Amino acid sequence: SLSDRLQDTFDKLRGKGRLTEDDINVAMREIRLALLEADVNFKVVKRFVAACKERCMTSEVLDSLTPSQNVVKIVLDELTELLGSTESKLVLAQNRIPNVIMLVGLQGSGKTTAAAKLAHLLKRQGKSPLLAACDVYRPAAADQLATLGGELGVPVYRGDGAHPVDIARGAVQEAVDTLRDVVIVDTAGRLQIDEAMMQEAVDIKAAVRPDQVLMVVDAMTGQDIVNVVSEFAERTDFDGVIMSKLDGDARGGGALSVRQVTGKPIKFVSMGEKPDSLEVFHPDRMAKRILGMGDLYGIIDAAQQAADEEQVARAEKMLREGLTMDDMLHQLQSIRKMGGVQKIISMLPGGERMLGQMGGDAVDDSSLTRIEAMIRSMTPEERACPKIINGMRRSRIAKGSGRTVQEVNALLKQWGEMNRMMGRIRAMASSGDMSPKAM
Ligand code: GDP
Ligand code: MG
Repeated sequence: SLSDRLQDTFDKLRGKGRLTEDDINVAMREIRLALLEADVNFKVVKRFVAACKERCMTSEVLDSLTPSQNVVKIVLDELTELLGSTESKLVLAQNRIPNVIMLVGLQGSGKTTAAAKLAHLLKRQGKSPLLAACDVYRPAAADQLATLGGELGVPVYRGDGAHPVDIARGAVQEAVDTLRDVVIVDTAGRLQIDEAMMQEAVDIKAAVRPDQVLMVVDAMTGQDIVNVVSEFAERTDFDGVIMSKLDGDARGGGALSVRQVTGKPIKFVSMGEKPDSLEVFHPDRMAKRILGMGDLYGIIDAAQQAADEEQVARAEKMLREGLTMDDMLHQLQSIRKMGGVQKIISMLPGGERMLGQMGGDAVDDSSLTRIEAMIRSMTPEERACPKIINGMRRSRIAKGSGRTVQEVNALLKQWGEMNRMMGRIRAMASSGDMSPKAM
């Protein structure tokens, strides 16, 4: 993957006391190839690599970092910049009820799915959304939206048989009548951009004057993404992008190209078929993920999503003070809530890579149960301070939980490693050291 390729490149630089111009050239060539292979637009790649190289060559280096860390930091900065540098909010007019959000995009890009997820997200924020089914060309489209809406408890306005423009208008009126405060308009797409589709989008837009038009773009589109997005930008114009299917084995190049090519920000990313898999897009986190630096803040976010403020406090305390067995137990319990072991590991530094090496099925949730049993057999004192767990205590815990002493040892070792990792992440956060390996 792109992350692996980039990490390999950085690995080669690591350990070199000084970097020669040759070293930089080799690294930049590898980065260029890795990006091209990930289907990043070639113009974007060219500009990106030139910018990185320029910065690597000029004197702008931080003394606190090793030469290779400096290169990583520069690439990270540039990647973040490429992805849009700052988080881009969904802008809804304060004094307008209902607000209107319209989704456009090619057929199969994920509009209907995204419409439902967006409704779910807004509902969690205390809004009362209404979905408008304006794809009248595929008979199943309105049913699909109705099913999703039904699952989420969000009403769907279908306006059966009407023209899409009238359905959009009707939905807005329905929202007024039923006191809904946001209308999300799901529109039709074609497999290719065509005149009729564009005109219809323009007409719907003129009729309901959306606060935001969001274009849904399939992350797996590849090079063609640039053409598709540019054409939409010209005809209907839009305010931002929802990047869908980022969970698939997309090479991820699309996300890196869109901002540069259109100047439009990515606002949300969609990472799966579950309703809560739509996330606000954070360029810095995405850049770190691409560089294999993990996404600890993503974990904090996921914890937040699990609707447990205590959880967030714990995650933050863990970062600050290290990890107790109670924390571990608590984390284990919420892992299921947060989507299982694989998802969590994938958010840890180097996690994607680790999962790849272990093979997808090697990680399942059955070990959680065993670990839980062992932690439950510890006294509160032992949980708070696992260092005191000596040989006698270990065999007592093993007996109490029906596990072997070896398993208890393994758990304590794992705890030690996780704690060290937390320590390094903490140190890095406070010193600004960006090396992935430092984590
Ligand atoms: P539309 O034609 O633009 O409305 O696209 P749909 O919303 O119907 O999505 C097309 C297909 O992609 C469906 O099978 C969805 O389940 C799937 N899909 C949409 N978004 C995602 C996503 O973020 N991840 C994955 N894995 N599949 C998605
Ligand atoms: Mg659809």
